[in-house]
Amino acid sequence: MKLKLYWQIFIGLAAGIFFGIMARGLGFENFVVDKVSILGTIFLRGLRMVIIPLIVSSIISGVAGIGSAERFGRLSLKTLSYYLTTSLLAILTGLALVNLLRPGLGANLGLEEVPEELKAGAQKIGDTLLGIIPTNPLEAMVKGDMLPVIFFSLLFGFFITRAPQPYRESLTNFFQGIFEVMMRLTHFIILFTPIGVFALMSKIVAQTGFEVFVPLGSYMLTVMISLAIHAFLTLPVLLYAIGGADPVAHARAMSAALMTAFSTASSSATLPLTLDAVENNAGVSNKVTSFVLPLGATINMDGTALYECVAAMFIAQVYGIELSFFQQMIVVFTALLASIGAAGIPMAGLVMITIVLQAVGLPLEGVGLILAVDRILDMMRTSVNVWSDSCGSVIIARSEEETELKVLRKRA
Ligand code: ASP
Repeated sequence: MKLKLYWQIFIGLAAGIFFGIMARGLGFENFVVDKVSILGTIFLRGLRMVIIPLIVSSIISGVAGIGSAERFGRLSLKTLSYYLTTSLLAILTGLALVNLLRPGLGANLGLEEVPEELKAGAQKIGDTLLGIIPTNPLEAMVKGDMLPVIFFSLLFGFFITRAPQPYRESLTNFFQGIFEVMMRLTHFIILFTPIGVFALMSKIVAQTGFEVFVPLGSYMLTVMISLAIHAFLTLPVLLYAIGGADPVAHARAMSAALMTAFSTASSSATLPLTLDAVENNAGVSNKVTSFVLPLGATINMDGTALYECVAAMFIAQVYGIELSFFQQMIVVFTALLASIGAAGIPMAGLVMITIVLQAVGLPLEGVGLILAVDRILDMMRTSVNVWSDSCGSVIIARSEEETELKVLRKRA
């Protein structure tokens, strides 16, 4: 009997951690960091290879199938409302906990050197928003810029429905065909996830170890508890109450994608697995997933939003700066913007923190305080980001009266 994929990934993950610890203990960490990690790089390149053709074909064929402008508008509105609501709920959870636990008080920390890329600061949020409209869609595809590619694909898909008959049909078929091929290709790459996850995890553990966690323990705990409340309480309640779904069944359906998000720390790299899981395991239609998931992977980041808020508040606490209620509201608002602006790649959230710090006049060097443990927190927040996108797909599918969902809760 063949072991299910999520078990294989789980074993890869655990074995990777174990192997990394062994490497540190026995002194062969350089071998792991230099050589074993190549397997992880191959896996990540495979995922990145499929992303652009997969999302372009998925969005175009999905949106072309939506049909009316009215339905298109309704879906956009629902999707954006979901993104905003859940990100705000996440930030408020983080804000409440960081005020309650006050992890930064009395923390005795050394500043680490802040890397140049962070000093340069995040790009202005206005530029990110303008950048959504590509001046050259092909260039955006070539560079792999997600938002402009998504924007153009949404429009292209929509205007297919406005084209006269023979073209409408042949274009829809054409992109549907590419999508079917890309899905199969993606499946093939997904088969290598256990090995990729093993290599990525062993590299991270061999490189960092667990010692760095000690001085930042209470900060990490605050982030982790807040993320846990959002992932295990807030989102499941929404999923159950509004989506009519069984959260445990849905988590099982998503497990391969969630573990991949954890080990890659990248929502974008995980997107192929997320699309596959939400469509094939949870049974959501391509019309909804193509709308909610690619966009969600870049702009709906509940985990990142929460993290931005907790990290900024932590930095303020360490420097002994009291933020007024009004300033805390600015933190909430900029944390939301920062999470929207953050790309779905590792450490993007850390770079965007500068926006929040700047907005309330906190020292940018504060980022150096939290650098050491960013990777592990990044892995957790990325899983929460992907989990939220997947819950959103089910909730929106349900509101669109989709009946084929496989994760609905049983009626008594
Ligand atoms: N790594 C996160 C993601 O891809 C973004 C972040 O750094 O918070 O979702």
